[in-house]
Amino acid sequence: MLRLPKFNLVSPKSIDEVVQALADSKGRGRILAGGTDLLPNLKHEFIEADIVVSLGEVDELRGIEVSADGGLSIGPLTSLADIASNEHVLRIAPALAQAAGTVAGPQHRIMGTIGGNVMLDTRCQWINQSHFWRSSLGFCLKKDGTACHVVEGGSRCVAAASNDTAAALASLGASLDFQNAPTEHGDGKRTLEFEALFKADGAWNKKVTPTELLTRIHIPATPRGHRGGYVKLRLRGSIDFPLLGVASRLDLDEAGKIEHADLVVIALQARPTRVRKAAKLLIGTTPGQANYDTAVAQVMDAAYKQCTPLPNIPGDHEWRQEMVPVYVKRALAAALG
Ligand SMILES: Cc1cc2nc3c(=O)[nH]c(=O)nc-3n(C[C@H](O)[C@H](O)[C@H](O)COP(=O)(O)OP(=O)(O)OC[C@H]3O[C@@H](n4cnc5c(N)ncnc54)[C@H](O)[C@@H]3O)c2cc1C
Ligand code: SF4
Repeated sequence: MLRLPKFNLVSPKSIDEVVQALADSKGRGRILAGGTDLLPNLKHEFIEADIVVSLGEVDELRGIEVSADGGLSIGPLTSLADIASNEHVLRIAPALAQAAGTVAGPQHRIMGTIGGNVMLDTRCQWINQSHFWRSSLGFCLKKDGTACHVVEGGSRCVAAASNDTAAALASLGASLDFQNAPTEHGDGKRTLEFEALFKADGAWNKKVTPTELLTRIHIPATPRGHRGGYVKLRLRGSIDFPLLGVASRLDLDEAGKIEHADLVVIALQARPTRVRKAAKLLIGTTPGQANYDTAVAQVMDAAYKQCTPLPNIPGDHEWRQEMVPVYVKRALAAALG
């Protein structure tokens, strides 16, 4: 049995107290939400912390509200189970509800939060292992080593962003509020467009530090004809991480013609992959008519060419690439119900 390493646990009651505790940790702190990913990673010792700051008592970080513009404002401590079943999320952002509903298993979705999913660490079959297992290989670039076992001679970690909700949030044009402790230079708050959060480095794939607190997730209003879907390839349908995940967005006009389309793929590389060029082929077509079916075939082909899975996560990467067009087609079908 793997044991948790020693650390100090603090449980602040407000956002201000959280950011102060994180500032006091001088980079040696970690944020704990549901703990369904952080705790295994601490046990595997590729994440280290002297202070773990629990968000469990910070009620201002919970909740789902419809914002003034008709979009959504979501507290990061909201559980994935609540996101998946919330009537406003189902109506305004159906792809997000579907993605949240496919994360891990039912118990994880009760404990696991949307904030923890957004901020999830990348995954790789060579790092999500015990310290002993990794030591036998001489570790790797992501932690304690100098080589990558996925890309021979590679100088950058290519572990995969594997957070299901990231694909959906990218397709919905979400934005994220972050907060640090105030300094003489400012109040420590900033807002990032969802896709601007990520960088192509699996060692740490975010442009914020691990001690920057996500305080709110905003989703702009979607039009009346909005349709969204999310599907994922995984080994065990009841629990596993994605081997591939595809979020789709189709906004239809009153006549049923597609005005706006988007596709975002997860679990390929360190950040979500947008296949917007391919999705644009759908614009101007009408689901149910021949022009739509022709465009879907072209989109499947274009997505296959753009998406090249690596042997970073389990599942043969060539098989995963063959599955790209299949799951693109299924994601579009999921959007149309
Ligand atoms: C068996 C198993 C299967 C899983 N399957 C999936 C899957 O299919 N898909 C998937 O996406 N995930 C999966 N997970 C991972 C995990 O359960 C989810 O990603 C979950 O959403 C993580 O949320 P959490 O609240 O538990 O996060 P935590 O484990 O508490 O935190 C995760 C990361 O986010 C950071 N964090 C949390 N909240 C904030 C915040 N407000 N601000 C800044 N940083 C924050 C933490 O510091 C940590 O780095 C699985 C886990 C297990 C154990
Ligand atoms: S992609 Fe390479 S460096 Fe990154 S975790 Fe995997 S083996 Fe390590």
